[in-house]
Amino acid sequence: MGSSGRIVVVGSANADLVLDVDHRPSAGETVFGSDVRVTPGGKGANQAVAAGRLGGDVTFVGCVGDDDHGAMLRRSLEAAGVDVGHLRTVGAPTGNAVILLTPDGENAIIASPGANRHVTPALLTGSRAALASADVVVVQLEIPLDTVEQVAREARSARVVVNAAPAATLPPEVLAVADPLVVNESEAAVLLGEAHHGMVPAGSGPAGTIPAGSGPAATVTALLALGPRSVVVTLGGAGAAHAVAGGRTEHTRARPVDVVDTTGAGDAFVGALALELARGADLGDAVVAATGVAAFAVGRRGAQESYPHPHQLSG
Ligand code: ATP
Repeated sequence: MGSSGRIVVVGSANADLVLDVDHRPSAGETVFGSDVRVTPGGKGANQAVAAGRLGGDVTFVGCVGDDDHGAMLRRSLEAAGVDVGHLRTVGAPTGNAVILLTPDGENAIIASPGANRHVTPALLTGSRAALASADVVVVQLEIPLDTVEQVAREARSARVVVNAAPAATLPPEVLAVADPLVVNESEAAVLLGEAHHGMVPAGSGPAGTIPAGSGPAATVTALLALGPRSVVVTLGGAGAAHAVAGGRTEHTRARPVDVVDTTGAGDAFVGALALELARGADLGDAVVAATGVAAFAVGRRGAQESYPHPHQLSG
């Protein structure tokens, strides 16, 4: 693989509080869980660690609190070789995600943003030079939306990977720079559902909703009509579908794996995708590499702790 261009990830850092449960509680129900495991997570930090551990030149822009969780996150990023010069310690608790893990490997998550609320446009001014010199910039939606908008404005010379997760609608200016827009199927549905209600530009292509009974190709086409330069829809165990504006949708199969824990699989995918793009790969090759990295993560417990080093991917 070639040397990496510079990647800047602007995003969240959370301490994941993980509990194994037999089933998720319903309203009014108490379920007993395992002992709590505290592990480094948060979409932004996960993506930075995934790319860093694989050898990328990665800078993380984010916030943690002055507490043990913040120190854990800083250590994890550093251990992955990520530049933490733009990781600020602020006067709020480090973000948390309470993750309920069920035996089928699925998870349900409650996120408490904490310090991630401090990743504001004002804070970004201190990272202008890093953004300006980046080859690839990665954002997700666990930080304030006006910060994501600011990144879209400031990262004009970089390729911007927009991971619209957790599910939310996006303003046209952010969609317009996304190359690619990366979403899972439920995030796609939210983006397209809101498009139907006029939250995003109508576009010149097909109507912005997923036609009933249609497959991933129709979803990709509908998302492209919202204005991004390219789209990747991750499909869990079915892999991913992608297309560049004006091009055909291609499907990449998932790498077969015994599912242990899907937590952070999407972030492993995005981090690996960003790295391959920074190395100059085309989108299709980057998606293939990302499915390999994500499958590795699905086969192991945790988020960041499940991400591979390069030598673990060979063969
Ligand atoms: P999560 O929220 O669990 O981190 P996500 O919902 O954002 O994930 P998914 O589409 O579920 O994203 O998964 C991302 C990628 O991970 C998929 O495109 C695929 O490459 C890989 N993956 C997920 N589940 C499996 C699986 N069962 N087997 C192999 N690969 C998988």
